[in-house]
Amino acid sequence: MSAVSELVALRPPRRGLPRSDRAVLRGFSRAELRAWVGTALGAPAFRGDQLFEWLHGQRASSADAMTNLSRADREALARLADFERLSVELCATAADGTRKLRLRGALGAVFESVLIPNPGRGYTQCISSMVGCSLTCRFCATATLGFERNLATWEIVDQVYQAQDLLQREAEATGAKWPARITNLVFMGMGEPLHNYGQVKRAIELLSDPKGAGIAKRRITVSSSGLVPAIERFGREGLAEDIGLAISLNATTDATRDEIMPINTRWNIATLLDAIRELPPSRRRRVTFEYVLLADVNDTDDDATRLVALVSEFDCHVNAIPFNPHPGTPLRRPSPERIGRFVARCRAGGLSVHIRTPRGDDIGAACGQLALEAKT
Ligand code: SF4
Repeated sequence: MSAVSELVALRPPRRGLPRSDRAVLRGFSRAELRAWVGTALGAPAFRGDQLFEWLHGQRASSADAMTNLSRADREALARLADFERLSVELCATAADGTRKLRLRGALGAVFESVLIPNPGRGYTQCISSMVGCSLTCRFCATATLGFERNLATWEIVDQVYQAQDLLQREAEATGAKWPARITNLVFMGMGEPLHNYGQVKRAIELLSDPKGAGIAKRRITVSSSGLVPAIERFGREGLAEDIGLAISLNATTDATRDEIMPINTRWNIATLLDAIRELPPSRRRRVTFEYVLLADVNDTDDDATRLVALVSEFDCHVNAIPFNPHPGTPLRRPSPERIGRFVARCRAGGLSVHIRTPRGDDIGAACGQLALEAKT
């Protein structure tokens, strides 16, 4: 079976990507915009660069705003192109300052994005790549939504632009000279990013462009549950050089991983680690292994010992994530003592381990909790 047909065999979407009769320019690359202005407007390529800055630097939502274009070009743009933006359905703020944005995209699709204040300055934004998810990880609330569809490129990048708009309004309201900055991006919201590989790759190019959001590639991390063919592509196409990869591992035996992450029945732990071994070495980035700690499932001393044996050959970091409960799940978070013991054993084995503090769990925004719940 080819890699593509294997991927298609994962949970199928209820819909395809939305199509529009008009050009959805916010999803175009810089090169595509330069070509498009030539064919659609008969304009020189530099008009494409001007359009890029309006769409991604100024976050313009209509051709009228594009004052350095001629009236004729603006009228043609209004006729031929689509400048749609997401609408913000809800913005909930947690006690720790984490914000959850619930957003509505094309065809009424609803999904979420989380803005997390960094300890120093600025924000990390956790963005979604799908409406629901094509996978069925047992510890994840998003999995309960089923899989509606992949997000289009413009819907991925506009999550960041909506958050930038929010920070801009806050700066204006408080009289701050500059809005707070989004410095880091993690593709760890709704969906398996590498199962929407093409749109995610395009979104990274747009978001890292200095004339757009300008987020450095080394500050962008893509998470994967272990989609081996797409991890191989991630390495082959050069993304692994700059973009961080976080592997959601969560178990140390195939029996347990099969149970809590059914994707393991397709690509088991050994196959997954082989794929990581084959990634070209990055000068800048270490692989991160995410490990959601589940009481009596994957938190024993033996698990800690096996985790050390599995990953210590890699230049890696382990994020231990105490499970964030969600309604209807039988899974539980281990006690603080159990978590401490697990982490201490891993550290004694030489691993670099960080215990991830839950952020925004009082508004259902913490890791694994995004499920369009009505908590505010
Ligand atoms: S953990 Fe990630 S890949 Fe797994 S179901 Fe949740 S959103 Fe999908």
